Amino acid sequence: MNENCFQKAKRVVVKVGTTTLTHAGGSVNIRGVERLVKTLADLKNASRELVLVSSGAIAVGMGAIGLPQRPYDIPSKQAAAAVGQCELMYLYDKLFSEYNHNVSQVLLTRDVVEDEHRKQNVINTFERLLEWGVLPIVNENDTVSYEEIVIGDNDTLSAIVAKLVRADALVLLSDIDGLYTADPREDPNAQLIPVVEEIDERILSLAGGSGSALGTGGMVTKIHAAQIAGEAGIDMAILNGSNPGLLYDLFDGKAVGTHFKGGKKHV
Ligand code: GLU
Repeated sequence: MNENCFQKAKRVVVKVGTTTLTHAGGSVNIRGVERLVKTLADLKNASRELVLVSSGAIAVGMGAIGLPQRPYDIPSKQAAAAVGQCELMYLYDKLFSEYNHNVSQVLLTRDVVEDEHRKQNVINTFERLLEWGVLPIVNENDTVSYEEIVIGDNDTLSAIVAKLVRADALVLLSDIDGLYTADPREDPNAQLIPVVEEIDERILSLAGGSGSALGTGGMVTKIHAAQIAGEAGIDMAILNGSNPGLLYDLFDGKAVGTHFKGGKKHV
């Protein structure tokens, strides 16, 4: 049997979005987080090297403080992230330790990953954590990010991280099964696209822009992540995060979600 790239992938970056981690008001979706942690802990036990890029800081902070809606002003967003990041890490630490895994927190901003010297420090830290078998949990450092240094979304951040750690694969856990030919919420004939060989005009038009099928739902940033990863030769998959068990299927070589083929690996 021919092994596919996900079966062979040793080092994998998994990104999980806010909607997978929280309920509408920002309180933690305990069942969702527990299932995710259990699956990731098991994949680590099965010798995969994982890095988790987790969103959810602002939403969880909002839930913890009891804000009635997601804040718009920057100080409130940054303060909510400061509360939520703490709460998220507490939860991850607690749940992963039940399966004997150590976690670590890595918070990044654009200026860090664009400065050669600082970037190298980050790479060295990731390498040491992975060598120690510790799970790095990454987020943007929302509390100190401002316009000039913001990465802005965790799809892009996860692709940057995948490049930094020279991952074999990147998996985005989303609130949708993958990339569709049209918005499945509006068009009953929408078909899931199982494999994207190349990100061409057609794929870009499905992702967003004016008059596009999936202008909302974060497909634009996911395709952008696939471009960054693909240029570095990293395969990417989008899976529905409401069922983390799909990660087992993916790594067993089953066709799940949408697979974006990476280009030739640049050394
Ligand atoms: N860093 C943001 C947070 O933790 C999430 C950004 C995103 O979802 O793309 O709330």
